[in-house]
Amino acid sequence: MGRILVLVAIVVAAVWLLRRALASGKPQEVARKPAVEGDLVSCARCGVHLPRAEARSVGERLYCSEEHARLGPGAGRG
Ligand SMILES: [Zn+2]
Repeated sequence: MGRILVLVAIVVAAVWLLRRALASGKPQEVARKPAVEGDLVSCARCGVHLPRAEARSVGERLYCSEEHARLGPGAGRG
């Protein structure tokens, strides 16, 4: 009877140690994408996508560069 108790104690200890080892080996945090600075907007002139922080705004429209902001929306004129 005593041997069975010792065996049970050893098994429990082994399982506990295994679980602890597995838990510490796991990566704690899930790999996350680097956050984009703000959301993406598209240039009203050429349609390229860029972070809002880098966009030039003229009125309600957003542009990728000073030149496109100067040229204005659309590719028809200018
Ligand atoms: Zn543009």
